[in-house]
Amino acid sequence: MNQVETHRSGRIGWLRAAVLGADDAIVSTASLMIGVAAASASKGAILVAGVAGMVAGAMSMAVGEYVSVSSQRDAEQADIRLETHELSSEPEAELQELAMIYMSRGLEKDLAMKVAQQLSAHDPLAAHMRDELGIDPAALARPLQAAWISAASFASFAVVPILALLVAPAALRLPMIAVVSLLSLAVLGAFGGNLGGAPLGRAALRVTIGGALAMVVTALIGRILGVSVG
Ligand SMILES: [Zn+2]
Repeated sequence: MNQVETHRSGRIGWLRAAVLGADDAIVSTASLMIGVAAASASKGAILVAGVAGMVAGAMSMAVGEYVSVSSQRDAEQADIRLETHELSSEPEAELQELAMIYMSRGLEKDLAMKVAQQLSAHDPLAAHMRDELGIDPAALARPLQAAWISAASFASFAVVPILALLVAPAALRLPMIAVVSLLSLAVLGAFGGNLGGAPLGRAALRVTIGGALAMVVTALIGRILGVSVG
């Protein structure tokens, strides 16, 4: 861990990836297992579905996060390259530009120029990144970090519905997977909402209802396929 990673927004970045991975893991793995269970499959078949869903989901999560955070990083780096070039080729125009930004935020002309000069003397690129491009120099996008964190989080939380299957009595497999998964989603939803500063109850309700809908739909499809194909 270097100094940069103790920065607040950087921490929120990886927590966001972790919470996304966890929600996704519970909804998709539980739905998959419930779909298979509704087709009146054996415990072994439901377990295989759960473990396959866990592995497939963790991989696809890693790839998806890597691709999306990489394109964010590419955009950041292109902006930074252009800005670095402009700063070296026309420093005077860049100083004016910075002063204009501070004026548009409410500083008087003289003060805006003074702030622009002092920040530029200290670190011109950081000042332009922050105030012109809106990039926090301490919280640049990290594709690999986002990829492995969301994959690890997915794999860990996919274990929730799998454990529910393993401890449930034969007659209660489907409801046990559903109830344990929905309770975990509610807790995660409240935690995720807390990160974003949203009201706890509403965030928990949103993710729980979304998860319940996914489970009902796959249960119905599993039921229909189980009857017609099996
Ligand atoms: Zn600039």
